[in-house]
Amino acid sequence: MEFDKIELAHGAGGKLTQQLLDEIIVPTFKNKIVKGGIGLEALDDGATIPVQDYEVVVSTDAHTITPLFFPGGDLGKLAVCGTINDVAVMGAKPVAITSAIIMEEGFLMNNFKKILNSMNQILVEANVALIAGDTKVMPNGTLDGMIISTTGVGIVKKGSVITDNGLKPGNKIIINGSIGDHGIALLSKREGLGFETQLVSDCAPLHETIEAAMKPGGIKAMKDPTRGGVAGLLNEFAQKSNVSIWIDEDKVPIKAPVIAACEMLGFDPLAIANEGKVVMGVEKDLAEETLSLIKKTKYGKNAEIIGEVKAEKPGYVILNTSIGGKRIIETPRGEPIPRVC
Ligand code: MG
Repeated sequence: MEFDKIELAHGAGGKLTQQLLDEIIVPTFKNKIVKGGIGLEALDDGATIPVQDYEVVVSTDAHTITPLFFPGGDLGKLAVCGTINDVAVMGAKPVAITSAIIMEEGFLMNNFKKILNSMNQILVEANVALIAGDTKVMPNGTLDGMIISTTGVGIVKKGSVITDNGLKPGNKIIINGSIGDHGIALLSKREGLGFETQLVSDCAPLHETIEAAMKPGGIKAMKDPTRGGVAGLLNEFAQKSNVSIWIDEDKVPIKAPVIAACEMLGFDPLAIANEGKVVMGVEKDLAEETLSLIKKTKYGKNAEIIGEVKAEKPGYVILNTSIGGKRIIETPRGEPIPRVC
């Protein structure tokens, strides 16, 4: 590894995070799988522990964002949604979370209460219990406000786990709504760009949408496009499944303020983080039925089929552009907007 110090991009979910995992983190640990389950090396959204006829899904995440309160949510909502979604995209029913909160001395009690209330609201909506937690405080100036780390637990019948590597040629790619809302809403609030009045984060718990999508039984791979955005997710899909993914730019739902902000700042909306989106590869014959079930859910109204899976050029993600060209979509080096999740 060419770095002797950690850079921000090492935590940004792109190529440098991948390098840190492959070269430093994963090789350090000898025991990284429970027999018969999904372990650390899979680098999926969650891991699994087989127990008789079921698998217990476990997923853990640390959340460090700025600002703590943003259009459409706050750190508490984000921490709970992120973990519920990581459990749900494994095909599991989320049942419980634990939470560790680290705060800076001087943190306002009122803001602390607001963040806890936001966590509670989402937990109630998703029927998920907070069963354990920890609270620590660091001296003034040694931490920027608050960090929340959550671990989620879910249950799934053995054989029904959905990984991020099962795509087959012919599968259709579905997303449940517009891309880039979260990253741009946060950045806009932070930098005072003025888009925050038109745009809120998509931060949401996706258990209901995912449960509906699973009913026809056609999902071959599923993941939430958080850090690294849809571009990072599709590259992971393509590489892990050894297929290519072809996306139609015209079909990708994207809001006008996100397009405007990305043009102004030189960002690719496909690389921006989302917190209420799920992308899945679905068997061709079940794609339309899956899409219509997703559209009936609270967070799936703007769902679309955005592309398809092919056997040629394995490992590549290719965009059919609006003007009739083709562009290779690469894994972002890191999240272009730091500290959004
Ligand atoms: Mg995930």
